[in-house]
Amino acid sequence: MPKVLIATEKPFAAEAVQQIKAELDQAKYPYEFLENYTDVADLHKAVAEADAIIIRSDIVDAAVLDAAKKLRIVVRAGAGYDNIDLVAATAHDVVAMNTPGQNSNAVAELAIGMMIYMARGKFNGKSGSELAGKKLALYGYGYVARYTAKIAIGIGMEVFAYDPYISNEVMTNEGVKPLSKVADIFTTGDYISLHIPANKETKKSITWDLLGLVRSGCTIVNTARKEVIDEEALLKAFAEKKKFRLVTDVEPDCHAELMEKYADRYFATPKKMGAQTEEANTNAGVAAARQIIAFFEKGDVAFKVN
Ligand code: NAD
Repeated sequence: MPKVLIATEKPFAAEAVQQIKAELDQAKYPYEFLENYTDVADLHKAVAEADAIIIRSDIVDAAVLDAAKKLRIVVRAGAGYDNIDLVAATAHDVVAMNTPGQNSNAVAELAIGMMIYMARGKFNGKSGSELAGKKLALYGYGYVARYTAKIAIGIGMEVFAYDPYISNEVMTNEGVKPLSKVADIFTTGDYISLHIPANKETKKSITWDLLGLVRSGCTIVNTARKEVIDEEALLKAFAEKKKFRLVTDVEPDCHAELMEKYADRYFATPKKMGAQTEEANTNAGVAAARQIIAFFEKGDVAFKVN
């Protein structure tokens, strides 16, 4: 039977571990957990005998793949898969997968929670504002954005989205107003929530050309990836737009400077918290185990990303 390594520098919640074990036990697949490792050499050693790996934010690069002589499949229990070197995986004949949608509600709830936190002045005891009646512009309309839209509509926000890969019909059917170009996100939103992946096209794509357009008092919410924002432009937005705010689950490199100069208009979670719920952990972990079993039993590659 294929051996599965669950390699998690930041382990799954206990409930998720139980359910992953139950899935693999039922399929009679042997498994090993490598949790809380601090030395990548431990990962290199553990992958040597693995036919499959489940990871979270763990890096799977060419060195890991070189060490994994028997490996056929790596599954990232989560949405983004920029921690897997896809080119190297393909070169090593390893299938890479993610588990789309499994943690999206958790991330969406955090995005909305962060909006409320900023609207209420980081709970500073002074009068704040409400989300109802405000315009929310979503950059990207994938899984997380769609859950965010649903909650925001419930709160009474007017929701807009830009995603050139999703049809206007999908958006309008869900009560969301489609935007036709990226600049419209930045001119429209009182709240702008980022839900795009980090890739060649999007990295550092949010430049001053876009940030310079935001309305006074606009709050950017980033639960996506820090790399999508050009940080020079971000610092300029804080300096020039006196009510501009950023709340983020993915700490930018200029975090210390933002804390020092603009702590009243800026907040970053101390660690990425978006998918950190027991439910999301369990959903993603179990989906990863099931995808591995389906791959070996039926050749199912439905969630392949390379
Ligand atoms: P998804 O793949 O379901 O959605 C991404 C959407 O972005 C897709 O609909 C795609 O069409 C769209 N898109 C791609 N390029 C675009 C472009 N140039 N302009 C506009 N739209 C574009 O992914 P998701 O699960 O919704 O995740 C969204 C983001 O959130 C990703 O960056 C992911 O890595 C991140 N994420 C973070 C956490 C966290 O813990 N904070 C957890 C899950 C996902």
